Amino acid sequence: MSVHTGEKPLLRVEGLKTRFFTEEGQVNAVDGIDLSINDSEVFGIVGESGSGKSVTALSVLGLIESPGRITDGHVWYRSPELVESIGADEPSAVDGEYVDLQALSPRVRRTLRGTHFSMIFQDPMSSFNPSLTVGEQIAEAVESQQRARANPRSVASRTQGYGLSSFIMSTVMPSKRYVKEESLDRAIELLEMVGIPDPVLRAEEYPHEFSGGMLQRAMIAQALAGEPNVLIADEPTTALDVTIQAQVLDLLLELQEETGMTILLITHNLGVVARMCDRLGVMYAGEIVERGTLHDVFNDPVHPYTQGLLGSIPDLDGTRDRLQPIAGNVPSLLDHEMPDRCFFADRCPKAMQECLEKPPEFGIAESSSHATKCYLARTSYDETDALTEDYFSSETAETQQIESDGGTQ
Ligand code: SF4
Repeated sequence: MSVHTGEKPLLRVEGLKTRFFTEEGQVNAVDGIDLSINDSEVFGIVGESGSGKSVTALSVLGLIESPGRITDGHVWYRSPELVESIGADEPSAVDGEYVDLQALSPRVRRTLRGTHFSMIFQDPMSSFNPSLTVGEQIAEAVESQQRARANPRSVASRTQGYGLSSFIMSTVMPSKRYVKEESLDRAIELLEMVGIPDPVLRAEEYPHEFSGGMLQRAMIAQALAGEPNVLIADEPTTALDVTIQAQVLDLLLELQEETGMTILLITHNLGVVARMCDRLGVMYAGEIVERGTLHDVFNDPVHPYTQGLLGSIPDLDGTRDRLQPIAGNVPSLLDHEMPDRCFFADRCPKAMQECLEKPPEFGIAESSSHATKCYLARTSYDETDALTEDYFSSETAETQQIESDGGTQ
């Protein structure tokens, strides 16, 4: 791991908003987040389920599907190589060495997946095609990334050569391979690189013949096929047992050190963050509520939600005898139900009068990268100014009353 404080981050996300337009109303899954990620660092996004972590990752990759849409913001990616290859066609998306991925046409953006950005998903079993061998699927990724690199403007070339007819041909004529021999050789190299024993034999096996941990390694191999600059790992070890989790995390770190790629790690597990990350952002209700280096956030957390997350980790040294759960539940992200105040206020043990206004982000003096959306960064908690639990329960009762009045009129 290494902390880079260079002036030019590799990725800058600015004011990103992703909404889902559902029958119940507009869901503000990502609500104006800002973050920057440096070259060769591991940046973690941590938070409870439903806080918007995965939607953030999918938004960065441009993979949000209907009824969702990115409604605002920029994803700036530093790549002089890309600026040179697409700058003339897409001048409005370029600013110096940076390309705004949000402003790119979907056609060009698609060609960046695999070659510049790649993703490891939570569940490898559902990510592989059960009817093709693991080797063929990795080789297919190798070929499509080679084509995308050769012609970044052509999406059609990415998928050419694959499909039902090709599959049938390779089945009825075993001499005609679904993928080229040299791509299969590269797939075997990649399987070896991620620590799969007997990669030549394993490449010929189908996904159901792999264990969960092995298949996760194979998915990492597939993600590395295009030698991406940024690897997004969305809960990469959730489906694995603890020993295999540790092996997969170590593998990711080794590969990161070897290749110098940047990793954006999405997780709900602070233990994984502590093991892997240089810096992190804590997400709550679609916002990054605290960010900083691992040291900043773990040793000097300011936001009560971050403190709550850290307090809910088992303490194996035994100085704390009980886990401290965070009271309450994650709030609804429906636009018409989101309060116009700090989203954490009704769960916060330190909520005060001023928290009834939405907090902006405050820098924390001792560290250039440590910041939080909490008034405690600039004032101390004052009990005389505290909002009691009754305040929020009466607020809820009032809202329910208004809703039921509205419903009966
Ligand atoms: S702004 Fe207020 S309510 Fe929100 S987390 Fe900070 S202290 Fe708690």
